[in-house]
Amino acid sequence: MELIKCLIIGSGPAGFTAAIYASRANLSPVLYEGPQSGGQLITTTVVENFPGYPEGVSGYDMMEDMRTQAARFGAVIRSGIVTSVDFSSAPYTVTVDGSMQVQAETVIISTGASAKYLGLPDETKYAGRGVSACATCDGFFFRKKTVAVVGGGDTACEEAAYLSTLAAKVYLIVRKNYLRASDIMQKRVLENPKIEVLFSHNAEGLTGENKVQGVKLVKDLGLPTEKHYELGIDGFFLAIGHKPNSDVFKPWIETDENGYIKTCPGTPFTNVPGVFAAGDVADPTYRQAICAAASGCKAAMEAERYLNK
Ligand code: NDP
Repeated sequence: MELIKCLIIGSGPAGFTAAIYASRANLSPVLYEGPQSGGQLITTTVVENFPGYPEGVSGYDMMEDMRTQAARFGAVIRSGIVTSVDFSSAPYTVTVDGSMQVQAETVIISTGASAKYLGLPDETKYAGRGVSACATCDGFFFRKKTVAVVGGGDTACEEAAYLSTLAAKVYLIVRKNYLRASDIMQKRVLENPKIEVLFSHNAEGLTGENKVQGVKLVKDLGLPTEKHYELGIDGFFLAIGHKPNSDVFKPWIETDENGYIKTCPGTPFTNVPGVFAAGDVADPTYRQAICAAASGCKAAMEAERYLNK
């Protein structure tokens, strides 16, 4: 079985930064890209807050640059999804695509997080035809149209505010009778004339011929005032949080109640020696590309130290 010194799982900013550092440290890293090569940024239109790009950069170009930079120093980048791991003893056994196995002396988990969906069958039915979990990626298609955003946190408010710069009208569908977002984001949304907040509302389904044309809503679910009705919309955006992609590691790696991998604060150390976590899979708070990149750097440096011991 192939023995890898430093195995990196995931191809977002954390994974590629780890690959750059690990290859420059002669750890001959092998990186498995996972289901979405380039991670969440690949579907982001413009990244404007990553230092070094005064004019902004497309998420796609940025990830391509990171990949090229990692490959330049010898990182081996492979497509493949890690389907199970055995961290009972080092070297650790990792199964890729259900059948192929490799062994690794160190593992850097940088599998990121994925947007959550409500679980309505219509979300799948209309995927790519009006349903999106990324306003910055898809907002462009809804210029001068009517859209709905689901969620009451900072992400939902940010997405609604962003969409209001493009769309004619934005409904914010909030299941409680208050917003959970920070005061400043709440203010921005509540004072925006293009945004209408629908408190105590849940989405039940979507309607439309071949694309989204309406959302079925229920107001005051379970109360005597419960009311069902439909609103005409062209786009339906989910902003109800993210789920860390940690399930495959859970038999061995400690996570918090939401599935985020627990690391020793400020470090990439997990509860398994030689297994490190970097990026959004271990970051419930910041979830920024720059933070992910920084933690990928730390993970590679700790992998090097571990191997030198
Ligand atoms: P949050 O978990 O903070 O909010 C999720 C929202 O979605 C809540 O309003 C929640 O409702 C709602 N929700 C969850 N599940 C459902 C469901 N099934 N149906 C309807 N509504 C649902 O996630 P965010 O992504 O907004 O934020 C994550 C973290 O990132 C937070 O700490 C946030 O502050 C931070 N962040 C900061 C930003 C900034 O500072 N600029 C920007 C974006 C995020 P309920 O309230 O009822 O639980």
